[in-house]
Amino acid sequence: MTATLESDRRADLARVLAAVPTGLLIDGQQRGAADDAVVTVENPANRQPLLEIADAGEADALAAVRSAAAHQGSWATTAPRHRSGILARAAELLDRQQEDLALLITAEMGKPLAEARGEVAYAAEFFRWFSEQAGHISGSYGLSADGGTRILVSRRPVGPCLLITPWNFPLAMGARKIGPAIAAGCTMVFKPAPQTPLTSLALAQLLAEAGLPNGVLNVIASSRAELITGSMMRTGALRKLSFTGSTEVGRILLRVAADTVMRTSMELGGNAPFIVFEDADLDVAVEEAMVAKMRNMGQACTAANRMYVHAAVATEFTAELTRRMSGLVVGDGLQPETQVGPLIDAASQLKVRQFIDDALDRGASVAGIGSVPDGAGYFCAPTVLTDVQPGSVLSQAEIFGPVAAISTFTDESAVVAAANDTEWGLVGYLITENLDRALRVSEAMETGMVGINTGVVSNPSAPFGGVKQSGLGREGGAVGLEEYLELHYAAIPVR
Ligand code: ADP
Repeated sequence: MTATLESDRRADLARVLAAVPTGLLIDGQQRGAADDAVVTVENPANRQPLLEIADAGEADALAAVRSAAAHQGSWATTAPRHRSGILARAAELLDRQQEDLALLITAEMGKPLAEARGEVAYAAEFFRWFSEQAGHISGSYGLSADGGTRILVSRRPVGPCLLITPWNFPLAMGARKIGPAIAAGCTMVFKPAPQTPLTSLALAQLLAEAGLPNGVLNVIASSRAELITGSMMRTGALRKLSFTGSTEVGRILLRVAADTVMRTSMELGGNAPFIVFEDADLDVAVEEAMVAKMRNMGQACTAANRMYVHAAVATEFTAELTRRMSGLVVGDGLQPETQVGPLIDAASQLKVRQFIDDALDRGASVAGIGSVPDGAGYFCAPTVLTDVQPGSVLSQAEIFGPVAAISTFTDESAVVAAANDTEWGLVGYLITENLDRALRVSEAMETGMVGINTGVVSNPSAPFGGVKQSGLGREGGAVGLEEYLELHYAAIPVR
């Protein structure tokens, strides 16, 4: 990057940061925390502070719940077309502000700017999709089997929702929950991840600009998640929890949700198998493996965690994947040449290092390793490991880093059994030119989603979600809206 371009981009980021609201958003008002607590958001590429923002405590969280509860009644009765229009305008604003929001995502989360632009487009598509769905909320009118009762079924908003998001897709994870909540007519308390709250604060500002009334969306960034979440959920005023994050935290929240019998949508962890059969097109296999592995520096619940490659093509596949992985440019995502940004924090960096060491101790070999820049960022070199043993931690837990863990197989049913041998079931990938095999293996996969000859399944028009301990419910697609609606049935006797 030329010095001028570099300084232009830094100046743009400074301008974008200066416009981010730094308070809690409660009932349409920006406020500081009741106890004046603040938290500093840092850039993982250089550990430099970006902004200091309000850090919500219990009193603030309860005020946010009161606001959501107070506005639920009037919001639920707005015309679906009104809500649809807000979402359509929000999508347009996201398109228009794509570059600024991408800068913000890259600065607080680390992903390369090109990926951040893609995330803004993806988030806009969620708003567009749910804008189109809002006018189609319907019911039915029928007769009971005995002919004695008219059955009138309608759909209503579930009520005030608590939305909790992770840091890996700071804009898209919020849009995926806020979009259907607006379409359905639910009010919200939104708690973004403490590492990446700035994008959410900017998104709330954008939604207000799009016409979202005060109090419908309340945003509370907080470093005290456990404390405030429990207090909010126990009020009984929140009727639904939509959570994206780790299975570990998901289990805790499901227990808390049980106390007030809240509806839940849980998008939890994954441990995706990526299976390359001997009849695969190897160019497709490598290309899609790169996408499934390296998107977001490997920090995605959909990331290819375990690569199973047929022994007949393993040498060729591994050589090409290693060439591609080790040639990637790691660096600050704001620089145009960067293909791989930093990990989110020191704990993630350490965890990935420990996973690699554990795999090597158990007999894996390093096929290739890339290089990382000097500096304070939480960088991690893209690494390809072969002969990864099933007992290795990185075969059993989410790697959440740029490490491809390859093992070989020869038998289809054995590899399917290995792929399914996990508590998780979010997504699986298979690469094969054989249609019968593609369908057979896809049907045998114990996952909510399968990518066939592709490393990407995420799509706002499709139902995203997992089985087993990867979660409950779906986000996106037509069913994404159902998660925010309750059925209401009225019985009318035929007289
Ligand atoms: P990750 O490991 O990806 O950071 P987490 O599950 O820890 O995933 O975090 C996802 C979201 O859940 C974040 O917004 C985080 O603040 C929140 N969170 C973490 N722990 C708790 C908890 N005990 N109760 C409620 N929310 C939590």
